[in-house]
Amino acid sequence: MAYDDTNVFAKILRREIASDPVFEDDYVVAFRDIHPKAPTHILVIPKGKYEDFYDFHNNASTEEICGFYNAIKKVVDMLGLKTSGFNLLSNCGKTAGQEVFHYHMHILSNKLGS
Ligand code: 5GP
Repeated sequence: MAYDDTNVFAKILRREIASDPVFEDDYVVAFRDIHPKAPTHILVIPKGKYEDFYDFHNNASTEEICGFYNAIKKVVDMLGLKTSGFNLLSNCGKTAGQEVFHYHMHILSNKLGS
């Protein structure tokens, strides 16, 4: 399956639709999920065009991969989620529940991040 540029996260990256951003750097944008499944529910997406976990790990540069995971930690630290605990989740494939085919990591926590 080829990357589809019309997916909703591509539109958020192009600022064609609004989001509630919490963090951005050279590698990622992080924003609040529109239908939160926990008091804190953040989505972290790479700026590059990768449709899922496999596409990202097979085709992204080492710099992009490190940048992505470092950014997740920055968001966790920024929202003070380390002490309360949190979940990292990435659905890969339709049958696993992936709805948006731009790679992303969910950060979920029962703590209300500030
Ligand atoms: P997936 O099921 O692909 O792992 O997760 C996609 C997530 O994107 C879902 O949790 C869904 O609520 C969220 N989502 C879908 N459309 C939008 C949107 O337009 N804005 C934001 N902020 N989140 C979205």
